[in-house]
Amino acid sequence: MLPDALKNPPFGKPWLLYAFLGTSLVLNLALALRPGADPGAEADVAPAPVAALAVVEPVVPAGDASNAPIPPELVPALPEPLGVSRRAGTAVFVAPVNSSLSATFQGATAKSPAALSAVYSRLMVWDVDLRRDLHKGDLVSVLFEDTEGVEPLILAARLTMFPGTATEKTVDAFRYQAQGDRFPSYWASDGTEVPRRLIDGPLHDYEQITSLLKDRPTHEGMDFKTPIGSDVVAPRAGKVTRVNWNHAANGNCVELQFADGATAKFLHLNENAVKEGQRVTAGEVIAQSGNTGRSTGPHLHYQIEKGGRVVDPIDYHGTLRRKLPAELMTDFAAKAKELSAQLDTQVATAAM
Ligand SMILES: [Zn+2]
Repeated sequence: MLPDALKNPPFGKPWLLYAFLGTSLVLNLALALRPGADPGAEADVAPAPVAALAVVEPVVPAGDASNAPIPPELVPALPEPLGVSRRAGTAVFVAPVNSSLSATFQGATAKSPAALSAVYSRLMVWDVDLRRDLHKGDLVSVLFEDTEGVEPLILAARLTMFPGTATEKTVDAFRYQAQGDRFPSYWASDGTEVPRRLIDGPLHDYEQITSLLKDRPTHEGMDFKTPIGSDVVAPRAGKVTRVNWNHAANGNCVELQFADGATAKFLHLNENAVKEGQRVTAGEVIAQSGNTGRSTGPHLHYQIEKGGRVVDPIDYHGTLRRKLPAELMTDFAAKAKELSAQLDTQVATAAM
């Protein structure tokens, strides 16, 4: 499954390689849950050679006891903060960072620890360089819903760097749907949106950016998870240079050329709304997003090339970070506090 170079790393610290590969984001659950579906996906990476994490056995309260505290006798004393619990359809996983993020998540009692690691990475990648800035002993905490057949849904995620020291730094993300938004997003405690947005992107609304250009060397664009039929717009004015080339892989697709000579590719579309040679204005609808071609779930693949080279859309367009309006902060803060308490309870319980 792995190329020879990966099986026999040309250096003495193979875990470095795993740490590098392990932080790669995964397009969606299908990739993460079907080993072999995508050679670049995390699920294809062999487990890092580290000792298995000891975890607290899942605690399942009888009946409807969503607010019942976990009986202390069910929580064994642990040498370090570390734990897993389940209640009312959600689970909490708290663990110190091991040799890599994916190795750390292998201790999670989740249907797919690799998928959980991937969706957690998607939230942290905006503030932390997961390949360079994670330290052994940093604490990952995540509250999630785990349903068979779909990727884990994170309700709250936290990364505590240098926990318990003077330089402790916390990055957190709470799932919250802002009034007027089509989809819930993730917001930090101060009301700043965690994922960045392209300043002039190809979609007004989407569920999540699931893959960045830098995630995998074999991936040449950015993936937006969005339901089939979402309006895809021309980010800038331009001309349609091609449609539906390499249809088996790309599905329905459109290529635009902007005034500066850069080309933009939009792949896996459900329906094209433009023809070759047509001029389009910025913001004009050029297609409906879909799941055609070699695609494992509804999403838009967006790719920029300039001078024959792939360019990161983040660099090309620039990004912005939204902030919740003041009138939503009371509502958001109450919800974030509740989610945060669920994470903290688990940390406190595990540390006893
Ligand atoms: Zn893609």
